[in-house]
Amino acid sequence: MPDAFRYCFRFCCDPGFNDQVELPKLLGFCDEAHVDDVMVFVNVEEINTGHMDEAEQDIWLDLLERIKKPLDERGITLSVNHWHSLMHADLGKHFRANQSFRAMVDPYGNAAQLCVCPLDENWRAYIARIYARYAALAPDTVWVEDDFRYHNHDPLSWGGCFCDEHMRRFSARAGKTLTREEFVAGLLSPDEPSPYRQIWLNECRAGLEGAANAIEQAVHAVNPAVKIGLMSSVPYVHAAEGRDWKSLLSAFAGARNLPVSRIHLPAYQELVPSKYLQAFHMVSLVNRALLVPETLVYPELENYPYSRFSKSRAFTRFQLLSSLALNLSGMTIDLFDLNGRGIIEQDGYQQMLREVKPVLNAMQASGVFRNPRRGVCVLVDERASYHLHTKAGSKMEELYPEEFFWAGLLPAMGVPMYVGPKPEDAQGVCAVSGQYFRNLTTKQIEKLFAENFMLLSGDALDTLLSLGLGRLAGVQSTVLMAQNIGAYTFEQVTNGKIYTGVPNARASSVISGADALDVSYLPNARITEYSALYDSFRKRRASCEVVVENRVLLYPFGRFGSPQEIPPMLLNDVRQEILQDVLATSARMNAPMVENNPNLIPYAFAGDDAMYLYLVNGAMDAVDGIPLRFPETDGSYKVSVLPSRGEKIEFTIKIEQGRCTLPLKIASMESALLTMRKQ
Ligand SMILES: [Zn+2]
Repeated sequence: MPDAFRYCFRFCCDPGFNDQVELPKLLGFCDEAHVDDVMVFVNVEEINTGHMDEAEQDIWLDLLERIKKPLDERGITLSVNHWHSLMHADLGKHFRANQSFRAMVDPYGNAAQLCVCPLDENWRAYIARIYARYAALAPDTVWVEDDFRYHNHDPLSWGGCFCDEHMRRFSARAGKTLTREEFVAGLLSPDEPSPYRQIWLNECRAGLEGAANAIEQAVHAVNPAVKIGLMSSVPYVHAAEGRDWKSLLSAFAGARNLPVSRIHLPAYQELVPSKYLQAFHMVSLVNRALLVPETLVYPELENYPYSRFSKSRAFTRFQLLSSLALNLSGMTIDLFDLNGRGIIEQDGYQQMLREVKPVLNAMQASGVFRNPRRGVCVLVDERASYHLHTKAGSKMEELYPEEFFWAGLLPAMGVPMYVGPKPEDAQGVCAVSGQYFRNLTTKQIEKLFAENFMLLSGDALDTLLSLGLGRLAGVQSTVLMAQNIGAYTFEQVTNGKIYTGVPNARASSVISGADALDVSYLPNARITEYSALYDSFRKRRASCEVVVENRVLLYPFGRFGSPQEIPPMLLNDVRQEILQDVLATSARMNAPMVENNPNLIPYAFAGDDAMYLYLVNGAMDAVDGIPLRFPETDGSYKVSVLPSRGEKIEFTIKIEQGRCTLPLKIASMESALLTMRKQ
């Protein structure tokens, strides 16, 4: 019976340099760390020689064969981590004399020396042949690296591809001969997207899917059982290259295999756990939601540029535990240099991996993470780049959607959240930011408002108004108030309630906050104001957090610096208590919230006869006694707890006036899986 949570260890050695020493070390490491699969790096990073030829590949094939035999004996699978497809970056290298590949070209006409255009038929035939030769070894999975993308191919500016062949195709679709400048200006043009935007995104998508088909057909002609995994980058960046996740992963999977994906975990180096989780929710959780549920997901645990100077064992363990919320098959694990130095036993990662494996297996095997999710639905759309309006139209980064604000904010504030790629995923409360509404028809937007309690950021409200649908939020118009020009410096509670134990509580709104909207409501709108914005002279300047008709929270902050930015002042205990009060008052929540305790993250799941809560402590403080606020006002639950450290425990809780405190301790960077049955 294979482990529920598989360790896929990415192994680098340099044949002819240290393979004699490294192969026995690899087996020792696998035994000790309980590795399930070894992904052998080929022609990797510092020892990459460009697009290698078959004579070079023979050396690697020989190494793979030598590794496979002892792994087979141990029941460990072999996979191949061929390190380049289009090529990550030139790094001073270039095509060889006999390689007639077409170079990738950036939006300004600069051509790469080593990175290729994915349409190039010579390269497609070459890369397909390389992968077919791996397939002959019957590996478990052959991986395609994350350079299989249009962006990030140094030294190109942004990436490509705007080569002559691409320009010919863009022109054919547009029905006129286009210069590169004309096409780039068109696809980035502000306001309503020009037809060039769609041409760009459709061609990008078709280009990579065509290359994926070439690899798939070659591999499966040799061995139809070999799985093909795709490594990827940040989903909002892939949106700007038209990625259709389902379609691309299906192209690699072929007719009989499941899709296999290595999604990005956003920390190559150690971060404060709370900051890591914020990025994890805005990147990894979003990416998982864009994949079909049955995808075999092995995220990217990596401590580049390696050694414990990059990442401690403790933080590595924390990434493993917290990743469970994604619903995984396991993890790719990349711990050591990619220069051939080999496995560094004195780092001691192997003991940590062995120690944490049983709890990862037990939690994943419980099946909880496959269940339907509960909480606030944060809506995103993988086709957002087709619809969004750019600001200045001057750079490719303007195509990155900004729909992830609530995914970063809500979990940190103890509000269970999940990501919905379709508007139908909302189940009572849904959260919208950025220009998300541009992805929907008027009918779809009206349905969302009719069926859900809505949380809207300032940007979402402005988008709604620009679509002529302000009436749905009871809003007539807005005026933007830029931060730091004296318009406001703090938010003050105005509803007479006590938050954080003080009357008229204040939350700062200057320097580290955000721009805000001064909202004018429709005359007949029934509004409940929670707070208002004030300037330094204590003069009230505008409403701040307001609930309209008990069905829309207008959260007026917006215009953040990037798709992943949460201004630090917005993570604040007054704002947390207001938000939780609004959600509790809405009576639409279907999962409990964690009160107080910043960065104690609840993930909620629904089973047939139970509710499940996965609690991850991303704070540096331990918690002893966890206050929960329930949707129901009373009742009792029998709770059994599988903690990440220590023994299983059980207890009964009684809800009084919607609240109770779990008699449970969770240390910093630890977690607990709770099964809660109503009594
Ligand atoms: Zn091209």
